[in-house]
Amino acid sequence: MSETTVIVVGAGIIGLCVAYHARKGGASVTIVDRDPAGDKASFGNAGGIAVTEVLPASVPGLWKKVPKWLLDPLGPLSMRMTHAPQLLPWLWRFAEAGSPSEVERISGALAALNHRVYADLVPLFADIGLSDELHRNGALTVYESGKGWQADTLEWEAKRRLGIDVRQLSGDQARELEPALGPLVKSAILTPQWSHVSDPKRVVDSLRSWLAANGATLIAAQVSHIAPSPEGGTVTLADGSVLNASKIVVAAGAWSAELSRQLGEHALLESERGYNTTIAAPQIALNRTMIFAERKFVATPLSIGLRIGGAAEFGGLRATPNFARSKALIELAKAYLPGLDGHGGVVWSGHRPATPDTLPVISRSATHAHILYAFGHGHLGLTQGPTTGKLIGDLLFGRDPPIPLGPYSIERFSAAKGIIGPRASHFQLLAAQR
Ligand SMILES: Cc1cc2nc3c(=O)[nH]c(=O)nc-3n(C[C@H](O)[C@H](O)[C@H](O)COP(=O)(O)OP(=O)(O)OC[C@H]3O[C@@H](n4cnc5c(N)ncnc54)[C@H](O)[C@@H]3O)c2cc1C
Repeated sequence: MSETTVIVVGAGIIGLCVAYHARKGGASVTIVDRDPAGDKASFGNAGGIAVTEVLPASVPGLWKKVPKWLLDPLGPLSMRMTHAPQLLPWLWRFAEAGSPSEVERISGALAALNHRVYADLVPLFADIGLSDELHRNGALTVYESGKGWQADTLEWEAKRRLGIDVRQLSGDQARELEPALGPLVKSAILTPQWSHVSDPKRVVDSLRSWLAANGATLIAAQVSHIAPSPEGGTVTLADGSVLNASKIVVAAGAWSAELSRQLGEHALLESERGYNTTIAAPQIALNRTMIFAERKFVATPLSIGLRIGGAAEFGGLRATPNFARSKALIELAKAYLPGLDGHGGVVWSGHRPATPDTLPVISRSATHAHILYAFGHGHLGLTQGPTTGKLIGDLLFGRDPPIPLGPYSIERFSAAKGIIGPRASHFQLLAAQR
C-alpha cells in the first residue's frame, strides 16, 4: 500500500492538531502557513477549555438585545457598515439557527463534540509535554443583577440537560472561591468541567515543536490555490511552486472559505474579531476563568498575566482593529475586581472563524475524494482542536469516527434548510419567555 501524504493548510490550533493525528497515523505530513509561528486566533485567545459551552450563539430572543449592544460603540457586539452587504447571507442563516428546533439540534451536536474533548485533549497534552499546563479548576460565571440571572436561567437548565455540571452560588460563596471579586457580584454559577491552559501560545508552540521533532515538515508560504487531482490534490504556493499530496486538509481559520470556494464549495464563514488585554502584574489573583455574564467578557489567569477580553466585531478580514475595545474591557473589569491594576496591559485582537450555526466544519469535501475541511470553530477552537484533529484523522485513515459527523458537514451550507421543526422543546419555552 502506498504511503498517505497529507498537506495541512494552516498552522493554527486546528491545523496543528490535524497534523498531529495525521503523523500519529503514520502519514507523511507537510504543514503550510504564511506565518507558522505568527500571531493568529490560536496564539492570543482566552485559553479556556470551554466544554460547558454547548448552546449556539443564536438563541431565541437574542435579537431583542442586539439593538442595545449595537448602539454602544464599545459594547459586546459591533458591525462595520461597509461590511454589512457581505454579511447578510450569514446573518440570515444565524437568525434561522436561533429557532427552537435548530437550537436543540445544534446543542446536541456541540455537546457531542465537547463531551469528547478531555478524552482527546489530555493524551495530546501529555504527548507534547503540557500536562502541567491544564488547570481543571472550573469557571465562575458572575451576575450583578437578579434580572441578568433570571434572563439566563433557562439556558443554564438547557446546559444541565445536556450533561453540564451547573452549581448555583450566592455572591458571598463566589467571593469565598475568588476573593478578588467585589460587592457588585450578587450571584454566580460554578461550572467545574471548564478548565484553562497556562498560555494558548504555549500550546501552538509545543505542537509545532512536537511535529518538527516527529518528522513533519513546516513550510512558511502563502497558499494561493488548491486543486484536486486524480491521485489526491495539489497546493500552489504564492511563488508558483506546486506541492502534491494524497490528501489535503484546509484548516486556514477565518480564511478557509476563500480556499473552499476555489474548490467549488461554499461555506458561510465570517471573521468575528475579538479583543483582549494581558496584564502581567494585575495586583489581584484569580483561581479560574471568570465570565461576566451581563457584560459579555471573560478574565483568565494565565502564566503570563491576567487576560481580560471578549467582544464580537463583524468587519471582515481586512478591517483595522479598534483597540479601544480592549481598553474598555479593562475599565469594565475594575467594577467587578476592585483591586485590579490595569497598567502595562498588552492589547491584542484575533479573527474567530465563525459559522452562523456555531458548529465547526469537520468534513470530507462533498465533491473531491481527497480534500477535507477543518475550520469554523468560532469561540471554541482551542477547546475543540484536539477532537477535530482526532476526527479528521479518522477520516484520513478510513476509520469510523466515534460520533456522527453529519452536523459538521460542509454540505450544510448548500442544503435547503427547514426553519422551525415540529417538535415542542425546551427552547420554545425560552422563546416564549423573551
Ligand atoms: C479574543 C478571542 C478569545 C478566544 N477565546 C477562546 C477560548 O477561551 N477557548 C477556545 O476554545 N477558543 C477561543 N477562541 C477561539 C479560538 O482562538 C479559535 O477558534 C481558534 O484559534 C481557530 O483556530 P484555527 O486554527 O482555525 O485558526 P487560526 O488560529 O486563525 O489559524 C489559521 C492559520 O491559517 C493560516 N492561513 C490562512 N490562510 C492561509 C493561506 N492562504 N496560506 C497560508 N496560510 C494561511 C493563517 O496564517 C493562520 O496561521 C478565542 C478567539 C478570540 C479571537
